[in-house]
Amino acid sequence: MALLPKLVELWLDLVSLLWPTACVGCGEPDRDCCLPCRVELRRPAPLLRPEVGTPCFVRGAYAGVLRATLVAFKHGGRIGLAGELGAQLRAPLGAAISACRGPAAPVIVTAPSRRAGTRRRGFRHVELLVSRALRGQGVRALRVAALRAGPGRRSQVGLAADERARNAGRVRVRASRCAVLLGREVILVDDVITTGSTVLACRAALAAEGAIVVAIVALCHAQRRDTRGIQV
Ligand SMILES: [Zn+2]
Repeated sequence: MALLPKLVELWLDLVSLLWPTACVGCGEPDRDCCLPCRVELRRPAPLLRPEVGTPCFVRGAYAGVLRATLVAFKHGGRIGLAGELGAQLRAPLGAAISACRGPAAPVIVTAPSRRAGTRRRGFRHVELLVSRALRGQGVRALRVAALRAGPGRRSQVGLAADERARNAGRVRVRASRCAVLLGREVILVDDVITTGSTVLACRAALAAEGAIVVAIVALCHAQRRDTRGIQV
């Protein structure tokens, strides 16, 4: 191990002594995420390819350490996990970028969170994950915050299929961003894909402005029952 990573490890150990915390994966008193859980999180696995009508690349199932880490990051104020989770987004995002034909750089657009969620967290969590995924990768891509949640948009949790589709449809393209989308290849990114209704509504909104949604990327794929009781 090089000296710098060793020093970082030492520093993190000292921090965990001064401010004891529990691992988000296994609950053991440790750092935010203990070493065995990080190993588990980083374990290579084939990308999941949920069928949503557009090529879709997902890092893994909404389960285990991946799920626990995302929930702690998204709902538990553990913003320090952004780097670890962003790294997990790298492979599916890379696959999506490879699916683009160019020659113009693809545009990366994230699915919008509800305003209340963003206010509560204090940061746009999917945007942050994309930033960390791209950091140091030398990827040629344009980031455009093109989408926003429209009025009346609520959490998708607990909604029946038709309500989900209607609720997901409350997504809008910012008027100021329409020009940049016209004729451009777009990669749409969300944190969790469940039925796909959110990303499909986003895709429709972008396509209506002339964007070509080439691929959809997510960190996790959830079965509907997995998201009960958790605001997504
Ligand atoms: Zn652990």
